[in-house]
Amino acid sequence: MQNHLSSMLDKDLDLSAEWSSEHSARLYGVRDWGSDYFDVSEDGNAVVSLQFGNKTTQVPIIDIVNGMRERGLDMPAVLRIENLLDQRITQINEAFAKAIKDADYQNHYRGVFPIKVNQQCHVIEEIADYGSRYHHGLEAGSKAELIIALSQLRDHDSLIICNGYKDEEFIELGLYARQMGIKCFFVLETAMELDIILERSRALGIDPLIGVRIRLASMVEGHWNEDSGDRSIFGLSTNALLGVVEKLKQADMLHCLQLLHSHLGSQIPNIRNIRSGVMEACRFYAGLIEEGAPMGYIDLGGGLAVDYEGARSNSTHSMNYGLDEYCYNIVETLQECLDPLDIKHPVIISESGRALVAYSSMLLFNILEVREHKPDFIPTEPPEDSHDLIVNLYGVMEYVNVDHLQECYNDALYYRDELRELFHHGQATLRDRALAENVTLAILEKISNLLPQARRVSQELEALPELMSDIYYGNFSLFQSLPDIWAIDQLFPIMPIHRLNEAPVRDGVLADMTCDCDGKIDNFISPEGVRKTLPLHPLKAGEEYYVSVFLVGAYQETLGDLHNLFGDTNVVSVHINEDGSFDFRREFHGDSIADVLSYVEYDPKLIQEQFRRIAEQAVRDGRISVPMRQQMLRAFRESMHGYTFFER
Ligand SMILES: *Cc1c(COP(=O)(O)O)cnc(C)c1O
Repeated sequence: MQNHLSSMLDKDLDLSAEWSSEHSARLYGVRDWGSDYFDVSEDGNAVVSLQFGNKTTQVPIIDIVNGMRERGLDMPAVLRIENLLDQRITQINEAFAKAIKDADYQNHYRGVFPIKVNQQCHVIEEIADYGSRYHHGLEAGSKAELIIALSQLRDHDSLIICNGYKDEEFIELGLYARQMGIKCFFVLETAMELDIILERSRALGIDPLIGVRIRLASMVEGHWNEDSGDRSIFGLSTNALLGVVEKLKQADMLHCLQLLHSHLGSQIPNIRNIRSGVMEACRFYAGLIEEGAPMGYIDLGGGLAVDYEGARSNSTHSMNYGLDEYCYNIVETLQECLDPLDIKHPVIISESGRALVAYSSMLLFNILEVREHKPDFIPTEPPEDSHDLIVNLYGVMEYVNVDHLQECYNDALYYRDELRELFHHGQATLRDRALAENVTLAILEKISNLLPQARRVSQELEALPELMSDIYYGNFSLFQSLPDIWAIDQLFPIMPIHRLNEAPVRDGVLADMTCDCDGKIDNFISPEGVRKTLPLHPLKAGEEYYVSVFLVGAYQETLGDLHNLFGDTNVVSVHINEDGSFDFRREFHGDSIADVLSYVEYDPKLIQEQFRRIAEQAVRDGRISVPMRQQMLRAFRESMHGYTFFER
């Protein structure tokens, strides 16, 4: 086995044995981040793994990909597994129900899904469908999201929570919902909103349900720590909160104040932060009761993390707790705080977005090409009359061994650079330079392979495997499909979905289709922590190689942009049945070139007309024939209606 692979794997795995899918499962950590939903089958395929009663059903992702291609849905594509949305809703609701039952908590849980995390129509429809048996509601942060929520709500026991800035129109819509019996809460982010709410509700004669979003002093770790603390841009200060209470009292509307809202931030990796946030929120809740508000609901916002790294640690892309622990912590903290004060247990609301949808989607793409960073054929001896520097490089190559790595590295670069200098001054030929670079590459490769055996390795040498890694060109746009990798250095689990019973002997980074140097992925999870390269397989002639980025259901789709005018990808929603068969429930063809052009204000018809004029002029000038003109116009038209990504 290759050195770089063995150094990454557990010591208890038999490394002398032939590579098996078990090795791949460990290498890519699928059982750590996959949360039992993903695994690797014995025959080397990444599988979706689902529990039907006591029976486990596994479906190779490659089978779904083949089904997609047969249906004309090419790569790249987002694959959604409907069952995983269903499972996550069930697990979150059941986990709260269990914690509530075990602790003898005297009220129930109501989840709401924050629409901003994934607004796609079929995701929201599925959440509304699967969620209805738990009365799982929706959270809206804008008018547009409220309109979605109002159209998707399945029953009157589910909640709609309205956060964000609200104008008159927003508030009227919410009040009409109230009038129809929908439990629609306005959560005050600022004191100013209250005036509009009071005015509109008086004018329409409808009592609103009011919540207050407080600004917690408790700070959290992780990337989104600015949602909390004194300088958070969200929520009411303690003083402003009292102003709201006063104003409600004066308007004789304090009975409308029933909900306390707090949101500490997204992806909170440390359970201790959650506990202290809940504790602080409880104190506010008790304080409002003391002020005479009826209350009855406590909304703890989002923040339930996803273990993208599978490390179960408190690092940014991980979490040091499980779902059950999260629920127990919340329920127990509420009791601890409220019971001594004899305060009735409130309905517990949470707004988990990420934890609910991240697992259900994956981004699939094929590799178009690999630029291998390895030496070409090198003659065993320096050719006759070779330049001295080249002879010296051959000498270094002979000399490479584990005790002289740094020395050989220094010498190789010295001779290579000297030769480049001569080339610069016209004293060495193109062929001299090519050979010198090739031999240097061979030396560096030798050094890189010996590194795992070396006792001490300088920083320079440590970076060598990364410099020597291949570039795998993938058929996707980072900016369109994985914006958080670019924007916030998000880590997602990535692995090939087939050939997993072959050793992935190459080390690569992934480059996308955009001509932007930021359009690459060079941070990967691995059993030994974050790594700069990903073990991958060499391409096989005439065979596609598919890679998947997992856990991309949250935040990625709408944040994506049209960099280089790569548009939305194809999307497929699949439902897996107990017998392992699967149904293509929904399919969406991604943007065509005409679509993306119209997004940036071009008129596709006009563009076609402009091209026609150029072609007609060329006919008149005698450059092309009329049949040729027809052929060109057809190609142009077909391109306009084609996919924005690489088509085979
Ligand atoms: C973004 C957001 C959420 C969702 O947070 P997750 O960490 O994705 O669960 C919930 N509530 C509010 C107010 C938000 O702004």
